[in-house]
Amino acid sequence: MDDQFRELYQEIILDHNRSPRNFGSLKDATHTLEGHNPLCGDHYVIYLKIKDGRVEDVRFEGKGCAISKSSASVMSEFIKGKKVSEIDQYIELFQKIVRGELDPAEYLEKLGKLAVFAGVSEFPMRVKCATLPWHTLHNALHGKQNDHISTEE
Ligand code: ZN
Repeated sequence: MDDQFRELYQEIILDHNRSPRNFGSLKDATHTLEGHNPLCGDHYVIYLKIKDGRVEDVRFEGKGCAISKSSASVMSEFIKGKKVSEIDQYIELFQKIVRGELDPAEYLEKLGKLAVFAGVSEFPMRVKCATLPWHTLHNALHGKQNDHISTEE
């Protein structure tokens, strides 16, 4: 990873940790799910409002490290307005990016800020922090409502 990319990574983590987007609860959520990463203590609730097969609104609340919080924040911005049927492919791509299995430079256009999370791949202990919100999103979309999950697989 080059220096410019690493800088961008740090900038996005700092920015979204300091002022997370879509932070809070959502009263008319159609899907609500809690996610917990016991390795780090990250704990969030993801709220989704799905209408006509699209993510009409999304919020999250809870607490955790800068990586998990910024990941949830960037995710919320990214998925808002997207079709539910498209989301699984992004979940998979994001997980591959943070595990260092894909070259982020090739996905910048498609994934935007999500690709920058490739920076996490240099810190294997933090991969679960970054994937927690996405893992929770996946479970929420696949009907595991109000289920307490763990990222320890
Ligand atoms: Zn964490």
